[in-house]
Amino acid sequence: MAGWLSNHAEFLTAVLVVMAFFTIAAWETFAPNHPTRLGQSRRWVRSGSLYAIGLIASSLCFPIAASTVVDWAQLHRVGLFNNLQLPTALAVVLGVLLMDFGDYLTHRVMHAVPVLWRFHQVHHSDLDFDCATDLLHHPVEILVTGVLYFAQLLLWGLPYESVLVFALLGILAGPWQHGNLKLPAALQRVLQKVLVTPEMHRVHHSSVANDGNRNFSIIFPWWDRWFGTYARAPVDGWSTLRFGLVDRQNAGDVTFFRLLCEPLGVMPPLRFARQFFRK
Ligand SMILES: [Zn+2]
Ligand SMILES: [Zn+2]
Repeated sequence: MAGWLSNHAEFLTAVLVVMAFFTIAAWETFAPNHPTRLGQSRRWVRSGSLYAIGLIASSLCFPIAASTVVDWAQLHRVGLFNNLQLPTALAVVLGVLLMDFGDYLTHRVMHAVPVLWRFHQVHHSDLDFDCATDLLHHPVEILVTGVLYFAQLLLWGLPYESVLVFALLGILAGPWQHGNLKLPAALQRVLQKVLVTPEMHRVHHSSVANDGNRNFSIIFPWWDRWFGTYARAPVDGWSTLRFGLVDRQNAGDVTFFRLLCEPLGVMPPLRFARQFFRK
């Protein structure tokens, strides 16, 4: 089974990603939690294009599958789990928890280290919050998280089943936690004990800095609760919640070229052309 899944991993991943986005996008279209500010098609094209560049860059920089890294680590007994005799089920559960905790730490580092925040703030630049926001990542951030992902695989030496379950949960968590979904308050309260919900991640995308430094968890919410970064609601309440960065609240601040070029310290082409012809 693991072999068959490994051989068809890329195709199955692509199908699952499309299904997850399609389901959440349909759900938020028919029962949105809040109105959106910018045109949907423009946002999907902008965010999808940035994400596609990141994927292409990743496949060029790391032309290697996770399963290859897992096999190599097993063969050479690299990583903690490859040197322990744990039952597979226990290794899978512990592995998923460790990887999710690693992502929580990575996310906190992205906010805390200025050079990484330059790239991660692109994700926080979206003036709306829905499953298209999940795609809004600077290619450099996608590369950095790719390096950290492979580093975690080598550090822990996880079994393939563990990597598979984690990948599956990660694929579902992205569009789910960014979903513009209206869920009953009682259901949110129950779900937030075991899962990061859209409401919880909505706080993290607030334009208020104190909110942005809350709710870093990706799949399980326990890391925020245990490490003191959990917030049930925005500091100023839900009614005044605005998404994006406080100093980038206009549509012109968050175009494809500005989000791609500015973190690299490069002038966006339109502005460059304007300055060039003005001379
Ligand atoms: Zn963040
Ligand atoms: Zn997000």
